[in-house]
Amino acid sequence: MNTFQEDLQEAVAYHGHLCSGQIIGVRMARLGLKTLGIDDPKSFKDLLVYVECDRCLTDAIGTVTGCKLGRRTLKWMDYGKSAAAFMNMETAQAVRIKTKTHMRPPEGADLVGFFDAIPDEEMFSVRHVKIYYRPVDLPGKPLEAMDCPKCGEEVIDGRQVTRGGTAICKACAYGAYYENIDTDM
Ligand SMILES: [Zn+2]
Ligand SMILES: [Zn+2]
Repeated sequence: MNTFQEDLQEAVAYHGHLCSGQIIGVRMARLGLKTLGIDDPKSFKDLLVYVECDRCLTDAIGTVTGCKLGRRTLKWMDYGKSAAAFMNMETAQAVRIKTKTHMRPPEGADLVGFFDAIPDEEMFSVRHVKIYYRPVDLPGKPLEAMDCPKCGEEVIDGRQVTRGGTAICKACAYGAYYENIDTDM
């Protein structure tokens, strides 16, 4: 297992700067792994991580655990929270860790020194949790695919929803984040 320093270095190199989020994310991930008894996350293939924001700490959790969005081992839950859950898929044992308080170091503070003075028990709350997931959420080949009858686009991994008895894509069901202003080029 990496040392804290090694994990922090790797996180900063990937993320692009040293910030509170890198320190908090590295510590959160290390604590999650420790609680689950996973010593070598990068060779352990059955780890799944749920991050609850898309801020700095998310990158650090990714580098420490080796979990990646594109490998389906890192799930992004858009909750806007400084929290993450770590699950051992082999045993279904899982732990959710959140920061206890808003720790904002004063402007210009030595970040590493500031956070070094705060022990894990003060920084984080840790709970065992049961995680709800479906086979279509797991890594591996897609188990499901369908074409949305409204827009004709393919939806994989069971992400369609049912409206009036018909399965359609989420963009058609909820309204999309984009609007077509053009026809196909
Ligand atoms: Zn950052
Ligand atoms: Zn559609």
